[in-house]
Amino acid sequence: MPELPEVESIVCSLQPLLVGRSIVRVTVLDPRIIAGTGNKRSWTSGAVPAFVESLLYEKIVAVGRRAKNFFLVFASGKCLVGHLKMTGQLLYEARKSTALPGPHVRVVFELSQGTLLYADARRFGYLLVYPRFSDWEDVCKKAYGLEPLSNDFTPRAFAERLKKKPHVSVKAALLRQDIVSGIGNIYCDEVCFLARVHPGRPIGSLRTEELRALHTAIKTVLREAVRHGGSSISDYVLPDGKKGSYAYFHQVYGREGKLCRRCSAILQKQRIAGRTTAFCMKCQPECFDFLL
Ligand SMILES: [Zn+2]
Repeated sequence: MPELPEVESIVCSLQPLLVGRSIVRVTVLDPRIIAGTGNKRSWTSGAVPAFVESLLYEKIVAVGRRAKNFFLVFASGKCLVGHLKMTGQLLYEARKSTALPGPHVRVVFELSQGTLLYADARRFGYLLVYPRFSDWEDVCKKAYGLEPLSNDFTPRAFAERLKKKPHVSVKAALLRQDIVSGIGNIYCDEVCFLARVHPGRPIGSLRTEELRALHTAIKTVLREAVRHGGSSISDYVLPDGKKGSYAYFHQVYGREGKLCRRCSAILQKQRIAGRTTAFCMKCQPECFDFLL
C-alpha cells in the first residue's frame, strides 16, 4: 500500500496543480525521508542543505508515475522521485496555511502558487533527486518490468515474461515488479479472482486462455481502481485529503470469511508467496485438472 492505482490517482490529481509552478522554499522536517531508500538510513549534516539547494527555484514541467513511484520533472532536466511505501501521503494546499504542519509532515515544498507536503507516519517512504531524468529512466529499466497501463503491456509480452518463471506461483509472479510493475497485495488478489485463477498455482500450469484472462483482469482491475481514486484502506488519501472509493468494490481482498459475491461460497485466506491471500475456492479452483 499504496499500489499503482493509488499513485496514479495522486499523480493525475497533482498534474494540473503543479505543472508550471516553481519551488520557492523547501523545508525538510525529517532528514530520514531524503536519506536513501533502505530501512536503515544515515545522513551527513550537509544532506539537507544539498537536497534543498538542488530543488530551489526549479520549475515543474511534468508529473508522472512509474511502477509505484511518482516523479516530478523540472525544466533544468532534474527529477524528484518518491515512493510512499506503507504510509506516505502527498498533500496539496492551495492556500498558504498559517497552522503548523501536521505531526507526520516530513517535507514541505512551497511553490510559486500552493504548497506540496510529503507526510509519512511510519517513515518508510523516500524522496530522491536525480540530476537528469535519464538517470531515473536507467534505474527503471533495471528494476521494473511491463507497465500495465501502457501499450507495451500486450498479452504476448505478458505471457513471455511469465513463462520464464514456470515454477513460481501466480501470486509471487504478479507481485514481482520486474515482471509487471505496480501490483501489490490488494490488486494481485483482485486480479486473480476476476481471472478465476487460484493465486497459488504455478505459472507453468496456466493454460493460454488463463494467461489471457490474467492479462485482461490486470487491465480491468487497475483501470477501475484508478477510476475510483484507488483504495483507501489505511493511510492513503488523495492530495486534497479525500479518500479513494475502490475498497467498496473489492471482491476478495480483506473479505476472507465473507461470502463470495459471485458464487456465495465462503472466501478463504491462505499465506501464499509470504503474503496473506484471499480467494474463492469455488471460483478459483486449485485442482485445475478438473477443468481440463
Ligand atoms: Zn466464488
